[in-house]
Amino acid sequence: MAQRLTTEQIERYSRQIMVPDLGGKAQMRLCQSRVLIIGAGGLGSPAALYLAAAGIGTLAIVDADKVELSNLQRQILHATADIGRPKVESAKTSLTALNPDVEVIVHPVRFDENNAEEIAQGFNFIVDGSDNFDTKFLVNDVAIRLDIAFSHAGIVRLQGQTMTVLPRKTACYRCLFQAPPPPEEILNCQQAGILGAVAGTLGTIQATEAVKYLAGFEEGLLTDRLLTYDAKTMKFHSVEVTRNLQCIACGNAGTPMVPAGV
Ligand SMILES: [Zn+2]
Repeated sequence: MAQRLTTEQIERYSRQIMVPDLGGKAQMRLCQSRVLIIGAGGLGSPAALYLAAAGIGTLAIVDADKVELSNLQRQILHATADIGRPKVESAKTSLTALNPDVEVIVHPVRFDENNAEEIAQGFNFIVDGSDNFDTKFLVNDVAIRLDIAFSHAGIVRLQGQTMTVLPRKTACYRCLFQAPPPPEEILNCQQAGILGAVAGTLGTIQATEAVKYLAGFEEGLLTDRLLTYDAKTMKFHSVEVTRNLQCIACGNAGTPMVPAGV
């Protein structure tokens, strides 16, 4: 592993290296970091683009889907010519074109309980850009078991929410919502709609949190708070979330486990 930045890297990342809270040392850390992105969709697209641009050393992307015409309104990793291609392949093309320094690993599979631990092992941060509750709870539980910090986000219509979790240090997604809602209460993008730029705002916040965490920010992360965004009124709110010591994922009661059926 290189111990110093090359002249080209110093130029490429100069505008963030000159930020006093970052600097060359933080950039080195970013270049040596490994981030796993679940989903190459509305959240994963902006997150992956900003993380690649910022020089994260390794990005892994998990997504089983192929690019469809109706994805392009928000999933900005993919272009019209990519319709029909696996999303992870299209994502790799875009990210490598943006920054050839980044190693992009692709998993053209659905992130599920059979492969989750193997895929997530060895990563420094996870961006959860999934579009369903089962995967969001699975990401939470696996990240806690493997002790990997992660960013949760959810979006629907003109609203979004996001929170960063440091396993067993700050409130997790299950401390907030114990289990997925019943299917009849769930609205997804396909049924409810989503404005592309709302997904962009939330995915970009997730990338910001990843960079802050990996650069070594000890304070100021979006932990123990759920940030909500309403684009219709253009209001952000931050709701305090308390860690539940009885939480089945991150609590003190015994070995964390994934409940059956999740
Ligand atoms: Zn918890």
